Amino acid sequence: MSVSLGLPRVRRAGPVPSGAPEGTGLTDRHGRRATDLRLSVIDKCNLRCTYCMPADGLPWLPSAQLMSPAEITRIVDVGVRRLGITELRLTGGEPLVRPDLEQIIAGVRKTHPHLPISMTTNGIGLTPRAAGLAAAGLDRINVSLDSLDAETFRALARRDRLGEVLAGAEAAAAAGLVPVKINAVLMRGVNDHEAPDLLGWALERGFALRFIEQMPLDADHGWTRQDMVTAAEIRHRLSTGYRLDPHPEARDGAPAQLWDVRPQHTTGHDPGTGTGDGAGTGDGAGDGVLGTVGIIASVTEPFCTDCKRTRITAEGRIRSCLFSHQEEDLLGLLRAGATDTELAQRWRAAMWAKPAAHGMDHPGLDSADYIQPQRSMSAIGG
Ligand code: SAM
Ligand code: SF4
Repeated sequence: MSVSLGLPRVRRAGPVPSGAPEGTGLTDRHGRRATDLRLSVIDKCNLRCTYCMPADGLPWLPSAQLMSPAEITRIVDVGVRRLGITELRLTGGEPLVRPDLEQIIAGVRKTHPHLPISMTTNGIGLTPRAAGLAAAGLDRINVSLDSLDAETFRALARRDRLGEVLAGAEAAAAAGLVPVKINAVLMRGVNDHEAPDLLGWALERGFALRFIEQMPLDADHGWTRQDMVTAAEIRHRLSTGYRLDPHPEARDGAPAQLWDVRPQHTTGHDPGTGTGDGAGTGDGAGDGVLGTVGIIASVTEPFCTDCKRTRITAEGRIRSCLFSHQEEDLLGLLRAGATDTELAQRWRAAMWAKPAAHGMDHPGLDSADYIQPQRSMSAIGG
């Protein structure tokens, strides 16, 4: 059985309502400016992570509706040249499912030799392609890995493919796609006990681990506030094996709050009890830092006021926020023969309407006025 995508409202043609001032990049009514483009190359995926996809998958987009490599190059070019985009992350669905991924990257790279290009992937099929992706112009990679235990991985991803993911992360490092970042989502009673093990595994390999709080973007609409593992709990779990101190460098709008990781025997505060402000760097300053760990607390410690992201879905629609209920059709406009100026104008107008915040941290979230977007994470492009 399939689950309907229940797509959000899409404006396909006609004049664009605006208000966005001319020539100011992708600014919004709340004073933010988007410079970080998340572009989904495909909605399809070969895993079925329980916090993202339904067991039977979703009705995939026909390939004619996906952006071609040339269309992606043009859209990115409009973003960079006319709207001030300074970094690109490719995502999905699973980007490696696209056989022409190398061509997509090479096309963007040829037009913008210095644009930082990264990709988020589940790592399936990465081993034989890592070197080719680097040669095409990919700079960095994030590999999603929620468990080091084959049985737990299978329960979470509904596929028995842990070995391929582990090999893919190593292959990315060997190909120079560094720093390799690892994304992990913890689920209560499933893999939350693995937090220190995941950190130890990442530190040993020089990978930068980032825990992401589970967001209500699963296609099954099974998320509950009570069941999600919070950033405070993640810090507390990690403190059983490590000491965490706030990383000294400024966060600068990055979604992950970074923590310096030291061996547990050094003295310090309990990072599970607060944000760690002012704690920890004093008496432990002489201890060796093993590395850093990031925690993306989108739900309990939201960072909407500093958000720099703009998103393009796999079928070329602009989403100003993961949690938007409205999209603007950019690819349709492009295919109808629009000029770069017209494309930039539509993109600016869509971003001008970006909501102030997602509202997930509302105390009455489970019962009250938070409305989950119709699209799941894989269909938006996480
Ligand atoms: N398939 C690729 C992957 O898994 O890395 C790229 C797309 S996936 C949607 C991007 C990231 O979103 C992954 O790190 C995944 O763990 C995360 N993600 C998916 N659903 C999520 C949810 N409901 N809450 C938090 N993160 C989620
Ligand atoms: Fe696929 Fe990534 Fe979603 Fe998992 S999180 S189902 S790998 S898109």
